[in-house]
Amino acid sequence: MEDCIFCKIAKGEIPSNKVYEDETVLAFYDLDPQAPVHVLLIPKEHIASAKEITAENSGVVAHIFEVAAILAKELGLENGFRIVNNCGKDGMQSVQHLHFHMLGKRVMGWPPFPTAGN
Ligand code: AMP
Repeated sequence: MEDCIFCKIAKGEIPSNKVYEDETVLAFYDLDPQAPVHVLLIPKEHIASAKEITAENSGVVAHIFEVAAILAKELGLENGFRIVNNCGKDGMQSVQHLHFHMLGKRVMGWPPFPTAGN
């Protein structure tokens, strides 16, 4: 999709620090890491957010989780990791292209959830 930064990264039009790539999925380091290991996993196909996942396009989401398991081994995350998806305005999604944050080597308290006030 035009004017989508992650589509441009997927096409190689904008550089990224890639850790994994195949025909349908790309993984690269987040520019503003919130953990010692912070990778973004994206479908190359433009899917705007988790709200746009359907029976037709959900296969790539399963594949993204397979890639996360591969990366966990490669990046030394044998003690575990977090996968985070922010969806839509209330989910504080800032880039409108489906992506999963993979956070490793211990991170607590991210993303910052607003307190309920009680
Ligand atoms: P979200 O707030 O869930 O939409 O996350 C978007 C993420 O994309 C943020 O963590 C940003 O730091 C990251 N980001 C934005 N532009 C780039 C880029 N060009 N390369 C790597 N990460 C990026």
